[in-house]
Amino acid sequence: MILLKSKADLAEMREAGRIVARVHEALREMIRPGVTTAALNARADEIIRRHGAIPTFLGYPHTGKNDFPASICTSINEVLVHGIPSDQRWLEPGDIISIDVGATYHGWVGDAAWTYPVGAIDDVSRRLLEATEGSLWAGIAQARPGNRVVDISAAIEAYVAQRGFAVVREYTGHGVGRNMHEEPQVLNYVAPGARRTSPMLQPGMTLAIEPMVNVGNWRTRILADGWTVVTLDGKRCAHFEHSIAITEDGPEILTVL
Ligand code: MG
Repeated sequence: MILLKSKADLAEMREAGRIVARVHEALREMIRPGVTTAALNARADEIIRRHGAIPTFLGYPHTGKNDFPASICTSINEVLVHGIPSDQRWLEPGDIISIDVGATYHGWVGDAAWTYPVGAIDDVSRRLLEATEGSLWAGIAQARPGNRVVDISAAIEAYVAQRGFAVVREYTGHGVGRNMHEEPQVLNYVAPGARRTSPMLQPGMTLAIEPMVNVGNWRTRILADGWTVVTLDGKRCAHFEHSIAITEDGPEILTVL
């Protein structure tokens, strides 16, 4: 069931989203060669808690496995999502790092991810980041009443395909609210039959739209830690995400300052 949010609910979600945006603003400033992903995690945790929120990802349950052990995900180069921060992993020149942040404020979740360059990056990585961010904006532009969820998926898929990269299929965007993952799923590609069955977008729906894009093919695998998702071919990948609300006037981005 898709849960519609009231004006009061959206006010709380805006606050959760603002905290997530503050974390991204601070971490963006920290990114440089030599910084550990554990240091990024510690800073994020501090900011989230200082604003009266809880890091949504910390202790997030894994079916039959270990719960997520950190407050943010730090995913470098061929790591797509769910990378675990470590005091043994330093950023290096030319890396790209995807940082995913979730904050729960008064029971409401904000969720946003961004892929950042570490110093100068190679041309393929630069085009990958541009394509993935651009596809996020293309998807968000479709998030308006009268459209269906699949219109978001189609815009993302087309934008990425035109630039010669591949949309990941095993992970998707989602509804967001009191839970980090709610209905509907927001695929980053058009699944067979989706045009007929896709839910209509309506005011009060809140979605985390999050294209994940690979330089090579779309396949991924999970490392032995049970969390870290890497591309199967070892090539680079990127991840951009905002939480948004559908309003009468179109999309409102919640994860902004
Ligand atoms: Mg996220």
